[in-house]
Amino acid sequence: MSNVVLVTGGTGLVGKAIKHIVDTEPEGSRFGKRDGETWIFASSSEADLRDPAQTRQLYEKYKPTHVIHLAALVGGLFKNMKYKLTFLRDNILINDNVLHAAYEHKTTKVISCLSTCVFPDKVQYPLDETKIHSGPPHESNFGYAHAKRMVDVQNHAYKEEFGCNFTSAIPTNVFGPHDNFDLEDSHVIPGLIHKCYLAKKNDTPFVVAGTGKPLRQFIFSHDLAKLFIWMLREYDDVEPVILSVGEDEEVSIKAVADAIVNAVGFEGEYTFDTTRADGQFRKPASNKKLLTLMGGFEFTPFDKALDITVKWFLENYHNARI
Ligand code: NDP
Repeated sequence: MSNVVLVTGGTGLVGKAIKHIVDTEPEGSRFGKRDGETWIFASSSEADLRDPAQTRQLYEKYKPTHVIHLAALVGGLFKNMKYKLTFLRDNILINDNVLHAAYEHKTTKVISCLSTCVFPDKVQYPLDETKIHSGPPHESNFGYAHAKRMVDVQNHAYKEEFGCNFTSAIPTNVFGPHDNFDLEDSHVIPGLIHKCYLAKKNDTPFVVAGTGKPLRQFIFSHDLAKLFIWMLREYDDVEPVILSVGEDEEVSIKAVADAIVNAVGFEGEYTFDTTRADGQFRKPASNKKLLTLMGGFEFTPFDKALDITVKWFLENYHNARI
């Protein structure tokens, strides 16, 4: 049987990682390409998914049987706070167009990507899949978070009214090759890698904002890619699944910075600016549902994944998003 898998946002951090796994895992293996399968990785230049006509044209062109929906307006704290309506509106439009075109084209399955930012601000930890709607999200990113929450609502409504097989995945903090390494608007790992690289190059101190004490769960993009492929092949329920390393694999920001210093080979002055805010100390998410359903998964050790990411950044500095 021939399947066409369309990956929206196929040119971003997660999309590139899925392409890497599809291209490199042995054909026919659990995460490898299957016989008769075609993978399409779409960018915004092929179709601006905020526009229903362009979205429909994309579906008409490829006739996808399966969709991994990653495309989103994403950004760091500053952008999220400044452009709340744009984050709300663009993401609502993208998600609504992608899901409705999938319904109209009788797409067999859609997996959309949420984020742990969608969870309530005041919540009992660890986060799990049942807590998405149990309180308002943090006000700093309420536009993005509400738009993403609505995907879960839409998935349920499409299933109840039309029997669609739409579901969603909730990754924790992702990092890997092809990330956004912009100094102002990136996530913590790519931002610190870029900063450390510049400190080494310019022989200046490497200063990490905050105390370094907060703990976070980081997932390597290549591992996340395998988990998406597992969901595509083996998961058929509307309820979301958290895709993350375990709660016992939290890493402190200091451990992240230490690993970056090692991987970059930085030998200069390295300090923490404790006048800067730390953010929440922990916000652990449970991966119990994932591991129970999958029967176990071997995550890439953090230091190894970080080495791969730093090596990619150094080799691709001039083409990277910086
Ligand atoms: P990136 O910013 O790396 O990539 C975003 C992708 O979306 C790009 O391919 C971009 O296309 C595409 N895109 C953006 N706007 C549009 C549009 N209007 N029409 C069509 N395509 C568009 O994001 P990530 O790979 O990091 O994120 C992928 C998904 O994972 C997102 O849904 C995000 O919310 C989620 N996520 C990410 C986390 C992280 O830590 N990075 C954590 C949790 C969830 P183009 O290249 O052409 O601009």
